[in-house]
Amino acid sequence: MQIKKNTVASLNYVLKDDEDNVLDQSDSGDFTYLVGTGQIIPGLEKAVEGKQAGDQLNVSIMAVDAYGERALEKIQRVPQSMFPQDVDIKPGMQFEAQASDGNVAIATVDSIDGDVVVVDHNHPLAGKNLHFEVEVVDVREASSEELEHGHVHGPGGHHH
Ligand code: ZN
Repeated sequence: MQIKKNTVASLNYVLKDDEDNVLDQSDSGDFTYLVGTGQIIPGLEKAVEGKQAGDQLNVSIMAVDAYGERALEKIQRVPQSMFPQDVDIKPGMQFEAQASDGNVAIATVDSIDGDVVVVDHNHPLAGKNLHFEVEVVDVREASSEELEHGHVHGPGGHHH
């Protein structure tokens, strides 16, 4: 079966940046997604369309087509008093924060400047070109229940 809309695909992948650093990987076949619902980066979704179990491919996606360029206006200076007192704030720390567009997203502590915390609301992968080595592990029809819920059930998916 080929990867197409209304199928569930399982992929193994290694994600590297331009310097060959491994940013993320999954090699146990438990990364699954419902095809055609925007659960993975559009460029990757398009590249694996039509592939089937056993196929391997390399996909490079430029930053602008992945998580976008890093935007300077998404870097904010926040008084340390805005953070809970019992949290030891360190550069590199990540937490969930509401961005100016109202969406909750991962923010990263960039640095600490006196009693001001410099917070970066850019996606951790923003500004990076992404290089995926992908292996298609499995492709199956989505169940009607999965299509109705808009997500995968069972291994690698939702349990409820
Ligand atoms: Zn469900």
